[in-house]
Amino acid sequence: MQAKFKELKTRLLEVNDISSAAGLLHWDQSTYMPPGGAAARARQTATLDRIAHEKFTDPAIGKLLDALTPYEKSLDYDSDEAGLIRATRRKYERAIKIPAAFMAKVTTHTSESYQVWTEARPANDFERVRPYLEKTLEYSRECANFYPGYDHIADPLIEPRDYGMKAADVRRVFGDLRKALVPIAAAITSQPPADDTCLHKHYPEEKQLEFGMKVAEQFGYDLTRGRQDKTHHPFMTKFSLGDVRITTRTKEDSLGEALFCTMHETGHALYEQGIKLEFEGTPLARGTSAGVHESQSRLWENIVGRSKGFWKCFYPHLQNTFLEQLGTVPLDTFHRAINKVEKSLIRTEADEVTYNLHVMLRFDFELALLEGEMEIKDLPNAWRERFEADFGIVPPDDKDGVMQDVHWYFGLIGGSFQGYTLGNILGAQFYEKALEAHPEIPNNIEKGEFSTLHTWLKNNIYQHGSKYTAPEIIERATGKPMTIEPYIDYLQTKYGELYTLN
Ligand code: ZN
Repeated sequence: MQAKFKELKTRLLEVNDISSAAGLLHWDQSTYMPPGGAAARARQTATLDRIAHEKFTDPAIGKLLDALTPYEKSLDYDSDEAGLIRATRRKYERAIKIPAAFMAKVTTHTSESYQVWTEARPANDFERVRPYLEKTLEYSRECANFYPGYDHIADPLIEPRDYGMKAADVRRVFGDLRKALVPIAAAITSQPPADDTCLHKHYPEEKQLEFGMKVAEQFGYDLTRGRQDKTHHPFMTKFSLGDVRITTRTKEDSLGEALFCTMHETGHALYEQGIKLEFEGTPLARGTSAGVHESQSRLWENIVGRSKGFWKCFYPHLQNTFLEQLGTVPLDTFHRAINKVEKSLIRTEADEVTYNLHVMLRFDFELALLEGEMEIKDLPNAWRERFEADFGIVPPDDKDGVMQDVHWYFGLIGGSFQGYTLGNILGAQFYEKALEAHPEIPNNIEKGEFSTLHTWLKNNIYQHGSKYTAPEIIERATGKPMTIEPYIDYLQTKYGELYTLN
């Protein structure tokens, strides 16, 4: 049995090596590649993805998994070996349903679509991306239909990202959250907005990047196993547990942009860097779901990075870095500025309170598109109408409306957005539990010490990688299933101190 287990691992490592090489090509495409490389790069990544898919769906892996079933049953559920067989089987059974030719078609298409989007968005030219999106929707439906028997056509597309959640579950959670959120957002936005002019002076890029990386290191990001580069649409990526990279984007007239992007991506990177090293190269060596991943980026960015306690420690350093711009700005003014709540156009720049409304809009549209209730050509108008209903403002163009997010231009439609809001909910739930175990965490944060929090997260979440599913991790770490209460409490407490809420 040991020989079979070893053979499985060897095969998985090979798949991982090819996927990692494809990942490196993606990273390069999004950071340093000149636009002229686009066509060849699309072909190259498609080739690598196809080979990885063929190797992973090789019937030999299915046979090994079958042969290992008795061994798996003889093991403790919590053993790493059992976890690896379990996670691999789940992934394998899903993967064999997708033909390699379909995968290659999608990869080529999304790579082209992404390149077109990078040009069409600044030109505010929705018509240019429309045919690509139509094709993407067609492929998304085709993909879902490789998994017949679903309750909702979005279910098979949600599953690989947020295993354990179906469209109906997400709809229910979002419905409950919306009920609690809308009054909070309305109460805040009916009051005079926070003054954030202090964030919009001239902030030289280099100093911004330097400060952001100092914070990232302090959080616990290991720079011997990571680095940061610039991109259009920031992301975290990993080529091995020893090479976990983040990207950011700067705006010299907006201090918050790079700073909070860096904290966000650092949260993702801490998760990946915290995975048990023995899982290297296997399907266990990655965060367990989009929602749990996002819970970590949101926790570090918002719960820690936008807290008063954090800035009690870090604001003097920031003032020293930007003496001319912030030297006379009091901490309270700065803290209010970075927590400004306003109805704004861009999801990635949205505050913690209204952010979820951006996500709900996208989630609802994904379902409507997949159901056939909405067509791609209707998107720009539907976007404007829904935006006006939810936010009271109309996007002046498609560039900052329907074309603002990379997701639909670089992947399938369906399951792309719910993870962000699930992450907000889970971040608060995990943090509440960490505080229960270590009430000293807020005091530590005021002193710039994050190791107690980091260690709790590592022990309860990070180290397990994908050994447990998201519902299992949530239950094990917090003692209950996902619940929105800690998040609502968090928002009410924090924003109750900054604004009048009732
Ligand atoms: Zn994220």
